[in-house]
Amino acid sequence: MRTFFHQDQRLHDPQQFMRVGRISAPTDVPSRVDSLLAALAELGIAAEAPADHGKAPVASIHDGAYLTFLETSFERWRQLPNAGPEVLPNLSPYWNGRPGEKCKACRSTSVVAQAGYYLGDLAVPIGAASWRAIVAATHCAASAAEAVLAGEQVAYALCRPSGHHARADRASGFCYANNAAIAAEALRSRFARVAVLDVDAHHGDGTQEIFYGRPDVLTVSIHVDPDVYYPFYTGYADERGFGAGEGFNLNLPLAPGSGDGEMHAAVDKAREAIFAFKAQALVLSLGFDSHREDPIGLLGVSTSGFRGVGSRVRELSLPTVIVQEGGYQTQVIGACLSETLAAFL
Ligand SMILES: [Zn+2]
Repeated sequence: MRTFFHQDQRLHDPQQFMRVGRISAPTDVPSRVDSLLAALAELGIAAEAPADHGKAPVASIHDGAYLTFLETSFERWRQLPNAGPEVLPNLSPYWNGRPGEKCKACRSTSVVAQAGYYLGDLAVPIGAASWRAIVAATHCAASAAEAVLAGEQVAYALCRPSGHHARADRASGFCYANNAAIAAEALRSRFARVAVLDVDAHHGDGTQEIFYGRPDVLTVSIHVDPDVYYPFYTGYADERGFGAGEGFNLNLPLAPGSGDGEMHAAVDKAREAIFAFKAQALVLSLGFDSHREDPIGLLGVSTSGFRGVGSRVRELSLPTVIVQEGGYQTQVIGACLSETLAAFL
């Protein structure tokens, strides 16, 4: 299985993260990639450095003003008097949450205003090397899609930072550029109908938003009931798409505490939808924060439960790009990856 990882992805090293009113140690630590790379090595898989695709992949999904902010904000931030170590917002604009009503570029030229405008929460600090890591992760997604377009049945992109909470013009939830959306858009160059299946414990709100009005990309997300879990504002079962995209989004919320049985049943439901959609290719947004030992998780999926997820997805027999999303217990995410990929090998 061809897999992609770039060393620059280690450079994003967030220093702070707000959780229930406390500045906490970030959970998206660079060492997450060591756990995943070790698992790949045990499977006999050597990760390749992705080709340099420039800004084309990230620009295929994201708004230009937003990308300029991601690329330039740290240097501008550093010039503020008494600036903290990272770009972080201290204000939030009003946003009604309705997809289809896209934000326009931030009117203010102030980096403080833009931080509030483009960073949706306090989990997306921007440090000195964040942009390099963000772009490197998009290159992994683009290269994995390119491999599948060239005939590979499955390819894995070890993306960090993750992407599925990133909207076209907003970062949130440890995510800045939507790697899965980039892969799906690339697959569309050959496949008329592409499905994205997101099994991360959190709703893939960014991916949903990006494709919400489109009938050519089916988005399916399995996640903890957003009534009690991040991202809270979206992920409900009645969100089915918008306009031409009506009927092409499916949310399958799980009750907190759900384990292997509930997860596998949800993947089976997702498979029915993907089959009915007549998908020609698939992007699997693969997160391991549904594992029962995850420090910010609420689900009870076991390590071997991921083998069941992988085998169900493989049975779809679709050309598949697997994109890494969350999972923060570094002692178990390697084993979760091994179990998932083993189903494809
Ligand atoms: Zn997650």
